[in-house]
Amino acid sequence: MYGDIIDLLEFTRKATSPWHTVQTGAEELEAHGFTELDWAGAWDISARGRYFTRVYGSSLFAFTIGEGNLTDKNSLRLAAAHTDFPGFRIKPEAGVFKDGYGLLNTEGYGGAILYSWLDRPLSIAGKVVAAGREAMTPKTMLVDFGRPLLTIPSLAIHMNRKINEGLALNKQKDMLPLAAVFGKGTGKDNAQALVENLLAAEAGISQSDILSYELNIYSCEAGCQLGVAGEMVSAPRLDNITSVVACIKGITSGMGSGLNIIALFDNEEIGSRTKQGAASANLMQLIERLYTCLGYSREEMWQGINGGFMLSVDVAHGLHPNYVDKTDPTNRPLLNGGLVIKQAASQSYAGDAEAVAIIKGLCRRENIPYQHYVNRSDMPGGATLGSIASALVPLRTVDIGVPILAMHSARETMGAADQRALCNIISTLFKA
Ligand SMILES: [Zn+2]
Repeated sequence: MYGDIIDLLEFTRKATSPWHTVQTGAEELEAHGFTELDWAGAWDISARGRYFTRVYGSSLFAFTIGEGNLTDKNSLRLAAAHTDFPGFRIKPEAGVFKDGYGLLNTEGYGGAILYSWLDRPLSIAGKVVAAGREAMTPKTMLVDFGRPLLTIPSLAIHMNRKINEGLALNKQKDMLPLAAVFGKGTGKDNAQALVENLLAAEAGISQSDILSYELNIYSCEAGCQLGVAGEMVSAPRLDNITSVVACIKGITSGMGSGLNIIALFDNEEIGSRTKQGAASANLMQLIERLYTCLGYSREEMWQGINGGFMLSVDVAHGLHPNYVDKTDPTNRPLLNGGLVIKQAASQSYAGDAEAVAIIKGLCRRENIPYQHYVNRSDMPGGATLGSIASALVPLRTVDIGVPILAMHSARETMGAADQRALCNIISTLFKA
C-alpha cells in the first residue's frame, strides 16, 4: 500500500467527527513542532515560527512564518478544506422506546445518500458538555465510542416488493438507528436515557452533570484498498479527509519564505454560514492578526492579500463507469488520473484563468498529474468553500481535489495514486 494511503486511512479512522478531525490534526501538528495559540487569547508570534489554533473546536488554522517580506507578491499562500461530513446528528432527548426496542432520534446533516447508511455498523462521536464550577465555563469533552453501537436496518424485500424500483427514505421515519433490544414492556426508562447512559459510561461523568452534546453518527468500518491491482481505495469520509490530510502534510513539509496557512473549516456541508465556517469573518481575522502581530500595517496586509494565492481543496466527481453520460463530454476525470482542477462559469468553483495557469505550471514543473472537471451544462453540480472564502478574503483562488466515486455516500471510492498528487501540489505551493 502507498504510504500516502496508509496515512490517509489512519487519519480517517480517527477523524470520526469535525471535532475529532481537528483533534487528530492538532496532534499531528504538535508532533511536527507547531505551537498552539488560543484563538481567544493574546498572540506572541515571530518569523520562523510554526503555529496552529482551533476555532470553537471544529475548525483549525495552522501557519508557518517565513523570513521574507510578507508584502511581496506570492508571499501569502493558503490551502483550505473542510472538517465535516454529511450524515446524522443526535437530537436532545434522543432516546425512543418502541415495542421493546431502543432507537435514537436523529436529524440529517448535509446531503447524505440515505440508503448508503442502511445495514452498516455505526458508532457515535462528538463532544459532550458537562457542568463546570461556574455556569459560564462548562467542561467540554470529546467522545468517540469507537465500536459498533448502532444500525439502521432496511425493510426486508418481502415486505416491500418494489424496493429495487426506487427507494424513498424519510429521515424521521425510516432512518432512526437501532441501539438496543430491551424486551417487550421493559426498558422504557433505559431507552429514554439511552444517550445520557452511554455518555456517562464512556466519558466517566455522572448523568446528571451532562448539560448538552453535539454527536454525529459515523460508519465505523475500516477503509481498505481494492481492485485487481489494489488500485482503488474504499473508505468512509474521503470527502473531505483526503484534503485535510493533504493540507496538514503540506504545512508540515517545510517552511517557505512567506506566510503559509491552512484553513480547515467546519460546516461546509450545511452552507458554511456559521461562526466556524468558511463564510465567517475568521479567515480575514486570522490574516489581519498575523500581519498586525508581525508589525505590518493594514495597508501592507492588503498588499499581501492582493498578491496572494489560495487552493480550495475538496473532492471532485470521478467518471462513473455505469453512468458515463452524467459527466461532461470532454472534461472527464478518471480515478488515478491525478488531481482534478474544478472550474465553473457560475463560479460555484472558484477560479480564473490565471489561477488555473499557476496550478498547471506548478504541476508541470513538478511532474504532478492533473485533469479537469466541469459540470455537464444541463446539471448544476455541487459547490464548495472556495468561492465563499475567496469572496470574503479576495485572494486569487482555484478549486482542486482528488476524483472520487459515490460522493456523500457512507463509503466512497478513490484511486490509490491520486492522494500523492494532491499532497505534492500543496507542498509545492507552500515552497514556491
Ligand atoms: Zn466536500
